[in-house]
Amino acid sequence: MVVELISVGTEILLGNIVNTNAAYLAEKCAGLGLSCYYQDVVGDNEHRLYDTIKTALSRADILLLSGGLGPTQDDLTKEVAAKVLGKPLYLHEPSKAAIQEFFEKRGMEITDNNWKQAMVPEGCTVVDNPNGTAPGIIMAEKGKHVIMMPGPPNEMIPMFETSIMPYLSGLQSCVIFSQTVKVCGVGESKVETMVQDLIDQQTNPTIATYAKTGEVHLRVTARAEDEKAARKLVKPMVKELKGRFGNHIYTTDDDVTLEKAVVDLLLANGLSISTVESCTGGLLAARLINVPGVSEVYKSGYITYSNKAKRRLLGIKKNLLMKHGAVSEEIAREMAKGAALVSKADVTVSITGIAGPEGGTEEKPVGLVYIGCNVCGRITVKECHFSGNRAKIRENTVSSALSLMRECILQYYSEVTFGGKDK
Ligand code: ATP
Ligand code: MG
Repeated sequence: MVVELISVGTEILLGNIVNTNAAYLAEKCAGLGLSCYYQDVVGDNEHRLYDTIKTALSRADILLLSGGLGPTQDDLTKEVAAKVLGKPLYLHEPSKAAIQEFFEKRGMEITDNNWKQAMVPEGCTVVDNPNGTAPGIIMAEKGKHVIMMPGPPNEMIPMFETSIMPYLSGLQSCVIFSQTVKVCGVGESKVETMVQDLIDQQTNPTIATYAKTGEVHLRVTARAEDEKAARKLVKPMVKELKGRFGNHIYTTDDDVTLEKAVVDLLLANGLSISTVESCTGGLLAARLINVPGVSEVYKSGYITYSNKAKRRLLGIKKNLLMKHGAVSEEIAREMAKGAALVSKADVTVSITGIAGPEGGTEEKPVGLVYIGCNVCGRITVKECHFSGNRAKIRENTVSSALSLMRECILQYYSEVTFGGKDK
């Protein structure tokens, strides 16, 4: 089935707010196996909204509208959609009671225009909004479905998940199941080459690659009559990918991020960690500390931006800094070593690089970064060359540092100890 997204609001047209609803809904619709060919943004204008709905009805089976369900004059969505489908509005008593309760509970005064939100098109299904006063509306007419949701994301998302998603699933004769295989430490083009034959042959399941910063996600999607059958189709493809990418796959769970995978690895092996950063200024620490439960493993984070800080906090010798320069393999190594000495962490990760836009030379250009990883005394230093602006270089550095940590810890256990920490 074909879905079209219509975001209503002049604020979106003017760029005052970012259309996060459309991004959210588009992703959800793709996950449900609905095809989306058009997304529209239209201001709070009756004629243009009318035309937009009419045009969308001519090319899609399902219209998902967000915004314009509020109590004010410029909130027009319901009125206009009802007009397009030729339905009068009537006062929906349960919605009126819900609005009354919503205001009374909060000790707020109801103004007359609030009752506008309880007016609904004849023959529609009214959808509960536990987080606000505007109910959602579903109008089904001659095989077309016009679905209206409130604009505020904190109202729209719960409504979509609780009520609209099950409704959309019910319209489909088949179910879609997908699983994401997340790969790190292999470049985007290499990943694509490694799965090109699978993509060329794909029918059901299909594979799609998504390049992220420092990682690549492979989404395997199958269509079948029920979830069990769809899972059964996905399983052998995921197994095939596991065979091809091995240890570079850090998870097949949608909810697991790279930093969570690293923290889980540290937890599983009882390893503590400290970070020491120069050009990333704490970004690596922040990403790790985003993970709930990291307190079990995270010890200290140092931002040793100046040479003086590198000497004072980590005990790096002045002559080494003079000889090699702060951005060098040797200093990345010394930073990882020094952080282990002062913090007594099992794993230390160091970052030193040139994020630009200034500070690059022919020998050491902008984007040159050294990442050191010290796992119980075994130190690996990786030289990286990133492109892009300052923000992009720093973001890439952090993802590469997480990848390197994972790689070094796995390697340590496979080569050194075969289980049990070697201290
Ligand atoms: P309200 O009862 O708050 O008026 P509404 O359904 O009429 O709700 P709008 O008036 O269109 O919705 O938007 C209200 C607020 O919701 C906006 O100011 C904005 O913060 C948020 N919002 C609306 N549409 C979007 C969107 N497409 N993406 C992200 N946020 C949105
Ligand atoms: Mg509004």
